[in-house]
Parts: sequence; C-alpha cells; structure tokens
Amino acid sequence: MECRKTENLKMCNCTYPCDKKGMCCECIAYHRKRGELPACYFTDEQERTYNRSISYFVKMNKR
Ligand code: SF4
Repeated sequence: MECRKTENLKMCNCTYPCDKKGMCCECIAYHRKRGELPACYFTDEQERTYNRSISYFVKMNKR
C-alpha cells in the first residue's frame, strides 16, 4: 500500500514542527505510546496548546 502523505497533509491541523506530519500511522503510534491523541482530535485552538493528553481531550469535550 502506498503512503498517502500528500492527501493526509490536507487534513492535518498540526502546527507543531514534526517529521511525522502526514504519516498518520507513525503519528498515532507515537502519541498512543505516550497515552496521548494526535492533533486532529483537537480543534485548531486546542491543538495550538500542544497538550495532546487524553485528559485534556476529555476536559474539552465534557458537556
Ligand atoms: S500530532 Fe504529534 S506526531 Fe502528529 S504530526 Fe503533530 S506533533 Fe507530530
């Protein structure tokens, strides 16, 4: 299977300088190992905090 980096980049909202951008498989694996979620789980405003923790995601999505 070919890497879809170019298409993935069109959907990526991550502003952190990172070599995994557009390579969703590596991005997910990296954050999963750290107990985190990737940038695309957060709004653009939330993403810019660079807090990728699950607890931050839950806090931001409480109703
Ligand atoms: S979400 Fe994390 S791993 Fe993915 S591109 Fe951004 S900083 Fe890199």
